Amino acid sequence: MEQHNAPAIVLLGNGGLPTARRIQALYPQARVLGLNGRVEGADEGYAEFGDTLRGLYSSDTPIIALCAAGIVIRTLAPLLASKGAEPPVLAVAEDGSAVVPLLGGLGGVNRMAREIAAMLDVAPAITTSGELRFGTCLLDPPAGYALADIEQGKRFVSDLLGGEAVRVQGDAPWLDEVRLPLADEAQRVIHITAEARPAERHELLIHPRVAVARIDGEANADIVRQALADAGLAALSLACLLAERERMTDPVLAATATELDVPLRFITEETALPPLHQQGDGIRLYRADEPLDPALIGQPRGRLTVVGLGPGAAEFMVPAARQALDEAEDLLGYETYIRMAGPLRPDQVAHCTDNREELQRARHAFELAASGRRVVVVSSGDPGVFAMAAAVLEALDESRDPQWLQVELQVFPGVSAALATAAKAGAPLGHDFCLISLSDNLKPWEVIEHRLDHAAAADLAMAFYNPISRARPWQLGRALEIVARHRRPETVVVLGRDIGRPAEKLTLTSLGELTPEQVDMRTLVIIGSSLTRRVPKGNGEDWVYTPRWYR
Ligand code: SAH
Repeated sequence: MEQHNAPAIVLLGNGGLPTARRIQALYPQARVLGLNGRVEGADEGYAEFGDTLRGLYSSDTPIIALCAAGIVIRTLAPLLASKGAEPPVLAVAEDGSAVVPLLGGLGGVNRMAREIAAMLDVAPAITTSGELRFGTCLLDPPAGYALADIEQGKRFVSDLLGGEAVRVQGDAPWLDEVRLPLADEAQRVIHITAEARPAERHELLIHPRVAVARIDGEANADIVRQALADAGLAALSLACLLAERERMTDPVLAATATELDVPLRFITEETALPPLHQQGDGIRLYRADEPLDPALIGQPRGRLTVVGLGPGAAEFMVPAARQALDEAEDLLGYETYIRMAGPLRPDQVAHCTDNREELQRARHAFELAASGRRVVVVSSGDPGVFAMAAAVLEALDESRDPQWLQVELQVFPGVSAALATAAKAGAPLGHDFCLISLSDNLKPWEVIEHRLDHAAAADLAMAFYNPISRARPWQLGRALEIVARHRRPETVVVLGRDIGRPAEKLTLTSLGELTPEQVDMRTLVIIGSSLTRRVPKGNGEDWVYTPRWYR
């Protein structure tokens, strides 16, 4: 009935992985989460089962847990007393032999249980009387229809369970499959109508979403509801709001659609509408005979999200970036990063490009988003640190295309390589520091030398990005010479290579001992300040930190 996030399939042990993957094939947007150290090959790891499950539940994420039902119940119990989100929660036996819907009856848990059970070829453990009797949840009509009143609906279903007969008035194709106690003369009626009126006592009222409200003036939710009422239409018969695309950035319009809980669509040249039903002040209502699919009316406002994946490991990606990736229709970025952002679903389009074509990639992203697509541009680390966010804004800055300005543009931060490497080493950036890219592809080398000289003189700790490459073999050696003019050979140096990735390697050395051969383009170099020091870990290795005080 309601729209939820993509499900999370949660594993406690490796044994459930094959079942998890089969369930994922049913819900391609779902992610498989595995307990760190116990599950190999999940999409994402998690450290603590209880916190993870409760976090998913509170954020309204459907949960498919491959473990004992009792564990799930005990874990979520503290959250059940308060009335908050209630996403579907199911326990599935690791070997796929049992599917138990636990919570979220009105969120469609039984429907999910039936879908999963059908795929696993077992009987779902459905215990909801109405569902057992009729084979469907009468209170959960399919897309395109809305139940008028849930409380009244519950009473109606218990009447039917009590032995009352029912008849169907109006067009309800999905009820053809259902085992209802039908009788032509029945008092109880399932009524499918767009008409605005309260449900009668013996009636289950369901509204087909047949209306489109085109908003040309100011319109808050009350005005739209009033216009529908004046036209004799139920508020729930509204399929979507429609407006001129010039109003894509209008926050009032967006808030109105959110309040009415319908999609907001914008007129394109091809937009075909059902017949005009009623014309009011600033609102035109169109009405079809059948429920409408809003996805086929005009286009939505496109969205362009620039995200950073963090250094590599999934648990160091911010959840907002993960969500944007899950919701993306198009992904743009360097192939390695697109692969890191995956696995992608078959319906997601990857536009892989060479690392050098950044402006072109940014323009392409805007064009896709302007056409109404949900687009994500991926960088590693943080997108604003020597990465795509600046390229995207530069493309916007150069463009005169008004449609680009209507795109919903967002930049989500990520854990940059310097921060990931610093954390691995301890806290070498614990005091003032600077980030410098040693690449002279986009800036003159003299600028880099000048900055290095000043940063070193100012005793800032430094993180070098893009320290060396085949095309830039000598620059790092030169940079180290400049730093060495201001810092002693004992100055602590940290090298982080492939941090957060399987081949991760952290090396501690000193300015005097560091040679460019130890460094490649997958390395982040941290040069300590005069105060950066090492402290024994107790296992023969050292932590590195820069104290917060100064002298
Ligand atoms: N936007 C990225 C940086 C892109 S520049 C970020 O915020 O991290 C590319 C440089 O970043 C590489 O040459 C290397 O110096 C550094 N880098 C990126 N990922 C790294 C990782 N996982 N480990 C070590 N260095 C990394």
